Amino acid sequence: MFSFRRQVYCDNNATTPVSRAVRKAMNDVLAHCYANPSSPYRMAHRAADILAGARERVAKAINAPAESLFFTACATESNNTVRAIAPLLPVGKRAILYNPLEHPAMLESLFRLGEQGFALIPLAPDRQGRIAPRAVENALRDDVGLVVCMAANNEVGTLYDVEGMAGVARAHGALFFCDMVQALGKVPVDVRESGVDYASFSAHKIHGPKGVGALYVREGAPFAPFMLGGHQEEGRRAGTEGLHNIAGFAAAAADVPRLLASAAALRQKRETFIAALTRIAPDCVINSPGGGQCQPGTVSVTLPGTANAVVMGQLDYYGVSVAAGSACNTGEDLPSHVLTGMGLTPEEARATLRIAFPHNLPEKDLRYVIAVFGKVLTGQDGEVMALQPAQLTEEVLFAPGVFIIDLRHAMKPEYALKPLPGSHRFPFYSIGKHLHEIPRDRHILVTCETGYDAPIVAYYLKRKGYGRLTFLMWGILGWKLAQPELYARLARQHSEEAS
Ligand code: PLP
Repeated sequence: MFSFRRQVYCDNNATTPVSRAVRKAMNDVLAHCYANPSSPYRMAHRAADILAGARERVAKAINAPAESLFFTACATESNNTVRAIAPLLPVGKRAILYNPLEHPAMLESLFRLGEQGFALIPLAPDRQGRIAPRAVENALRDDVGLVVCMAANNEVGTLYDVEGMAGVARAHGALFFCDMVQALGKVPVDVRESGVDYASFSAHKIHGPKGVGALYVREGAPFAPFMLGGHQEEGRRAGTEGLHNIAGFAAAAADVPRLLASAAALRQKRETFIAALTRIAPDCVINSPGGGQCQPGTVSVTLPGTANAVVMGQLDYYGVSVAAGSACNTGEDLPSHVLTGMGLTPEEARATLRIAFPHNLPEKDLRYVIAVFGKVLTGQDGEVMALQPAQLTEEVLFAPGVFIIDLRHAMKPEYALKPLPGSHRFPFYSIGKHLHEIPRDRHILVTCETGYDAPIVAYYLKRKGYGRLTFLMWGILGWKLAQPELYARLARQHSEEAS
């Protein structure tokens, strides 16, 4: 939808660009190897060979025996296998000790187990998301049969002492499940050395394709398949293997040593960025731990008094892609469970950004990112105005010459929140196709449900040459909370008009 003059992608914990070697490996399979690796004839043998070779290469990247690794459709699935593993825990060992800052793929799986009668015991991370092995030791009750802790946190970059924790769990007779998605390629991963029983991986976080993951299961660790059906992957995961994706994963895994080789330089650039950011915004708070306790390229920063969606939109306008540290695009405006779990208030969470630099960040891109942050955070950016929910009065709403855009997501047919009176509905993802419907001689007020999309689109319109632009902060939800009477009256009026 959006195109920018310059792009510095700083959201590498969300995903990474696919490398050339990965594309080539995938193309080769797609072009020449369509047979099903489970078929018996000669043509399929080549597919089976590619599959076996890929398993060897991914296993090598994590120092696992190849037989202990099987491929999945994504790390979300790898994490979900915990739902098939936990019921194998002996009676009397059915409590699960876990890091509450896990990725939702793990957290939701654990909550489901909780509903099924497993006792869930959350660990207590500190202000930077850290949990010491001693805390695991102190929290281990006799009935704990499984400990769950990730190796690196995706939102703040915090690294965990997996070896220490797994050792404590083993000594206690508990199994250890580790989501290593954000560790691979950023810090050395050695599943044997670390002593974990289960570990999840995802290809697209290391420049591989999306839609393929892996699960390591230590030899002898209890296991039951989560996906049922055919006998693929030695019966551990049903479903025809996505061979092109798996070949891509293997090519990406072969590159892990090169990614690791750039970690020290990346850490240095991260320090340079933090120092510059602290000069630009002295009241900012870095939530990520320092030095070796964090992924080399990740910075979580709270910018007090800002709204992350707004800053994100402004940065995006200049081609700098970062993530907002809060999942406020859900229609419920929920602040990130990771940040609030670390002790941030919901307000602080909504003022938090995650910057995840690429492993090969050029110095000139770093300088550009710093310059853009300077421009945006010191208010030199101007032009697009932000309207607080309390400022959106009847006078503003019905002012002549104002054209109100109401952004919606096509997948949500039912409006959770009523639109503003007289507003014009546009789809968020394809607004670029509707520019001819948006007048250039009016003052444009961009609104959305929770405040996440409006600044992005406002800055997009600025880029497209629109002159007078304002967006509603915190969305219609914020306005409803700030002015409930007005919302009730005008939203009703709108629906009456519409009916
Ligand atoms: N675990 C962590 C820590 C992640 O960061 C992610 C992706 O964001 C996942 C699991 C899910 O990975 P996938 O996209 O392969 O399902």
